[in-house]
Amino acid sequence: MGSQEVSTVDWQGKHVTVAGLGVSGIPAARALHERGALVTVVNDGDDERARAQAAELEALGLTVRLGDGATLPPSTELVVTAPGWQPDKPLFLAAAEAGVPVWGDVELAWRLRGTGGREPAPWLAVTGTNGKTTTVRMLASILEAAGLRTAAVGNIGVSLLDAVLGETEYDVLAVELSSYQLHWAPSLRAHSAAVLNLAPDHLDWHGSMAAYAADKGRVYEGNTVACVYNAADPATEDLVREADVEEGCRAIGFTLGAPGPSQLGVVDGILVDRAFVANRQKQAQELAEVTDVNPPAPHNIANALAAAALARAFGVEPAAVRDGLRAFRPDAHRIEHVADIDEVAYVDDSKATNTHATEASLAAYDSIVWIAGGLAKGATFDELVTGAAKRLRGVVLIGADRALIREALTRHAPEVPVVDLDRTDTGAMSEAVARAAELARPGDTVLLAPACASMDMFTNYNKRGEAFADAVRARADESA
Ligand code: ADP
Repeated sequence: MGSQEVSTVDWQGKHVTVAGLGVSGIPAARALHERGALVTVVNDGDDERARAQAAELEALGLTVRLGDGATLPPSTELVVTAPGWQPDKPLFLAAAEAGVPVWGDVELAWRLRGTGGREPAPWLAVTGTNGKTTTVRMLASILEAAGLRTAAVGNIGVSLLDAVLGETEYDVLAVELSSYQLHWAPSLRAHSAAVLNLAPDHLDWHGSMAAYAADKGRVYEGNTVACVYNAADPATEDLVREADVEEGCRAIGFTLGAPGPSQLGVVDGILVDRAFVANRQKQAQELAEVTDVNPPAPHNIANALAAAALARAFGVEPAAVRDGLRAFRPDAHRIEHVADIDEVAYVDDSKATNTHATEASLAAYDSIVWIAGGLAKGATFDELVTGAAKRLRGVVLIGADRALIREALTRHAPEVPVVDLDRTDTGAMSEAVARAAELARPGDTVLLAPACASMDMFTNYNKRGEAFADAVRARADESA
């Protein structure tokens, strides 16, 4: 059987345990129930919300067990889990012991695609530590510019199950996959896939860097046309080498430098393709200008090249790559330019919640007043500070773990002025912006790129970014 073929499972009377009531669990449980499976949903929590959700499912005829997500119901033939559930949970150990397979939401969507009798759309998949959402949105924009029916789906707010079972027909899907989702997706076979980069993240969940990398690497398994890797991140190329792919599938690199054969890269401010051309030894195809990428920060150009590589693997013409990149608008709080005040640019990269993302963000500007801090999640900041020291005009520190960043600054950038804000109330961000404005000179960038999670001071990174943008706009109004 060809790997892209739709597998048929007879769900009638099959005992399936769905682990976790939630954004993926409820639609999964319903879809399986509709297909005749005998579904039991198990959930750790037993609060009011869970009870209301359980009541709805029970009214349809499903069984729900609240307050115990650990025990495997007897006679379970398959477990379908929410992607976030940690693999060492007793439920999964019991499943492994009983020889019961465990699928995540992505695996389920992969297995159910095409079951409505429609031709299933191929998947172009993107994973990596940082840049997934941006790249997937760029990719969808390029595919749309090529006139294809597509959507950005997966770990991006749009459920894959909805995309494969819904009314809308697609020619191709741009799929964002997290390492958790890949962990639970053993038979997924994308048309082509990209791993953007690999830096330590979520290691508590995966257990080790090797296990994390291996889960990311699954995205390449069974690719048919292209495995796209980052030439600047050899770990991604190693994953391509280790993957078992279809005959004829190619390894395609992307680089911010001049591309070699079978690579996409940048020459004199132009994004060029030396992979999907008739003669890659001699030929290079112009795709777009660097200025077509929004914003044209180095890491974002890398994202654009990865998106372009996947689109080109799918046969998209160069002009559509350019048009799609031009039409792309980044999501909020990702290197978002908020305002210019007194010749200082204010940029919101609240989504930079780890040091790898912040490193990319800091590399995009020449002279920076950096607003950083929050919950460090076990990170260290020496490397980050060493790399950025020369470009720092000053630093304003906020949040619970700011001392860790301050200590790294003392060690590696002692001459850089640091303002340490010892307050976590709602006004803290506007003081941070005010202090940053004092430090900034014309031509500088005030950059919120915290390298930390936000939950010590804000509900999430969106709220943190909004607080920053509000404070900046208030200043802009005052100075207007
Ligand atoms: P993800 O979906 O992987 O979290 P996003 O596209 O939402 O990625 O970007 C998250 C943050 O990561 C951005 O705010 C930016 O700071 C940083 N980032 C984006 N692309 C890259 C990249 N290619 N390499 C490193 N950091 C990146």
